[in-house]
Amino acid sequence: MADNKLYEILGVSRNASDSEIKRNYHKLAKEFHPDKNPAAGDKFKEISYAYEVLSDPKKRQTYDKYGLKGLQEGGGHGGFPPEEFLGHFFGDIFGMGGSRDRGPARGEDTIHPLKVTLEDMYVGKTAKLQLSKNVICGPCKGIGGKPGAVVSCKDCHGQGIKVSYQQIAAHMTRQFQTRCPTCHGQGETINDKDKCPKCKGKKVLNETKILEVHVDKGMRENQKIYFRGEGDQQPDTQPGDVIIVLQQKPHDVFQRTGDDLVMKHEITLTEALCGFQFVVKHLDGRDLLIKHTAGEVIKPGDLKGIQGEGMPQYKNPFEKGNLYIKFDVVFPENNFASEDKLKKIECILPPRPAFVMPTGDDVEEVNLMDYTASERGRGREEAYASDDDEHMHAGPNVQCAHQ
Ligand SMILES: [Zn+2]
Ligand SMILES: [Zn+2]
Repeated sequence: MADNKLYEILGVSRNASDSEIKRNYHKLAKEFHPDKNPAAGDKFKEISYAYEVLSDPKKRQTYDKYGLKGLQEGGGHGGFPPEEFLGHFFGDIFGMGGSRDRGPARGEDTIHPLKVTLEDMYVGKTAKLQLSKNVICGPCKGIGGKPGAVVSCKDCHGQGIKVSYQQIAAHMTRQFQTRCPTCHGQGETINDKDKCPKCKGKKVLNETKILEVHVDKGMRENQKIYFRGEGDQQPDTQPGDVIIVLQQKPHDVFQRTGDDLVMKHEITLTEALCGFQFVVKHLDGRDLLIKHTAGEVIKPGDLKGIQGEGMPQYKNPFEKGNLYIKFDVVFPENNFASEDKLKKIECILPPRPAFVMPTGDDVEEVNLMDYTASERGRGREEAYASDDDEHMHAGPNVQCAHQ
């Protein structure tokens, strides 16, 4: 159950902007500061506490959703402990049915996921979201029937709840609350003949509404966009918020890490040794031409970066992260060149390490075979993989002309 108290303390509405909250806080804090106004000590504490909560987006969100109780459960409060605060305000800790004394109760928030592409988050987008919501019935103004048609439920005396007691020990009873079955917890009943023909006594009508959701540059997966007070309407209830939660569709090329983008790119062995160029289609449609000159060898797993080609920063979109490219090198297939040509390649490549044939009778030449994963124990995989066997297949010595 949520409430509106903190907003009232600062004299702002639920959908007040951060700057509005700050402005009112400064004004009130000045007015009620204990130095100036010693009689208003508690008032100053209330103002400070309200500001502490509403100026912190996380706390404000918790408060909006769960009220003061949520803040207490969430912990991490400072200054003014909510228990004390609640006690001061309501004379009782979380008094039952207290919402009736605390002004209008607050309705549930409505949470909608919105699928967006990485492109949307890069260039920004306005998405139209159609949602259906309950609104107060116009003809009966949310009464549910003719004026006077609504009567307090006789069964629960208009409380909507029934209270019963159970003795659990000699001098202890436990209090139970159940929803009144007669009025379904409404606390009131309407005769069928007096019901509003439009809403049939339900007080609300279902309506389709289009929300314009602005996906700003640099927004992220799971980022929330608030439409304050756009939730379902209900009589005597402050409507909750509609909260849009962004969900990013996976991208074929880029993966996002914070404001950086990461992509994989395969090059051939020839390109790894002799340089290359390729084009990357960026998220805004630009073609990035990436050139790498011959000379600096790219090895499998090498990571290279391009500054400023990552994602724009949220609320600061001219600053961008970096784009990182992880290279994989594709080696040529078997028998890609004749023996003759291989000799030529060897002459170009750095010389192989010197091979020394061991002496004695214990030298035994063995064959390398291909292996499949099924033949190998899973645990041994790494031991095999890291085995450096290049000394085993040093071929016949090539006499390089230029050596
Ligand atoms: Zn009832
Ligand atoms: Zn109606």
